[in-house]
Amino acid sequence: MVVLRLFFVFLQVSVFAITADFDCVFVGSSPIPLIEALYQANMGKRVLIVEESNQCGGAWKSIDICGVAHADMGCHQIGSNPSVKNFLEEYIGCKMVPLNDPLGTLANQNTPIRGEYYPSQGCYELMSHILQLISKTNIVLLMNHKIESVYFDLDRQFVEVSVNGRKYTSSKLFIPPMCSLKVNNMPNVEASSKTGRASHLYVLIEDPTPFRFTYQNGFSGVSRIMNLTPFVGLQNTRYQLIIFQTHANEANAQKCIEHLINSKLVDPRAKILNSDTYTYAQAYFNSSMLNKLGPNIKTLFEVVNTSHIQNMGTYIPRWKTALKPYHEALRAA
Ligand SMILES: Cc1cc2nc3c(=O)[nH]c(=O)nc-3n(C[C@H](O)[C@H](O)[C@H](O)COP(=O)(O)OP(=O)(O)OC[C@H]3O[C@@H](n4cnc5c(N)ncnc54)[C@H](O)[C@@H]3O)c2cc1C
Repeated sequence: MVVLRLFFVFLQVSVFAITADFDCVFVGSSPIPLIEALYQANMGKRVLIVEESNQCGGAWKSIDICGVAHADMGCHQIGSNPSVKNFLEEYIGCKMVPLNDPLGTLANQNTPIRGEYYPSQGCYELMSHILQLISKTNIVLLMNHKIESVYFDLDRQFVEVSVNGRKYTSSKLFIPPMCSLKVNNMPNVEASSKTGRASHLYVLIEDPTPFRFTYQNGFSGVSRIMNLTPFVGLQNTRYQLIIFQTHANEANAQKCIEHLINSKLVDPRAKILNSDTYTYAQAYFNSSMLNKLGPNIKTLFEVVNTSHIQNMGTYIPRWKTALKPYHEALRAA
């Protein structure tokens, strides 16, 4: 009788216990989710990252534009939080330089030097180092793959993601606020909405004088301006690559450069050699609607706090308990 009862218990366990394909699945590949994925992998978790684009980084990716390789996609600031700066140096291996005096050449000019830091080669450096660290782990990274839909199995406590026609199960889904997802539990609800578009005008100029600024607030029709020259290795040439984040795609390169000439930020002899536009689109995922699925969903997903890169400060103490410093991590693998 006891043996029979044990047999039924065994049968129940083996029929209902599900071993998910992964412990963690990440939607997209902006910096904070990727470092969280590294942390989870270092904790012994089986991790899958799915990135729809052919490039990692999300809003922090770099692009080839106006004939210049590895230019930041858009204007960026990382801020001045020392714990973020130190973490990016020690654990991600970035060379962090003052944002508005990256080469230490502007200090005695009229530019006020602020306490903000930036990787010496911009987004390209940040992302290529994170990807190097990922390549040393067992993390499965699927690029050019989209999570088309998600199903939360609340009874059996796993998430099923549909990726390019294949299904994978996971114990947990990590969702960034900016992503496009369909939730099969709620077929009639539009989970992702409010697509935002950030428009940029890139201008390559020839200027007989060295670059005079890296980061500026904008002017009418332009929200901010970044001179990428020192971050893309053009500092010892006559060329400068400048990005204008514009309110729409109609910004005029000539007018933008004239504004910089009038502000004495480029030389009056500067000539436009090339210009191009780049628009980045993001969809907003309404994660709060998932709570309508009841308390059983709580452990099945986590929204990664990516809205500002400085938010990584809240993760750093935990990340440091499992991550190795950059050079050690590359050697150890
Ligand atoms: C031009 C621009 C400049 C910015 N500058 C700054 C700045 O200076 N400082 C700052 O702190 N923040 C800045 N931000 C804010 C930025 O949105 C956040 O820093 C951060 O990148 C948000 O991360 P995210 O993962 O939520 O979204 P994103 O960075 O947009 O990344 C989402 C990623 O998920 C992928 N994806 C989406 N849906 C799916 C799916 N279903 N399947 C697979 N992959 C998917 C996308 O392809 C993308 O790579 C900027 C944003 C933009 C657009």
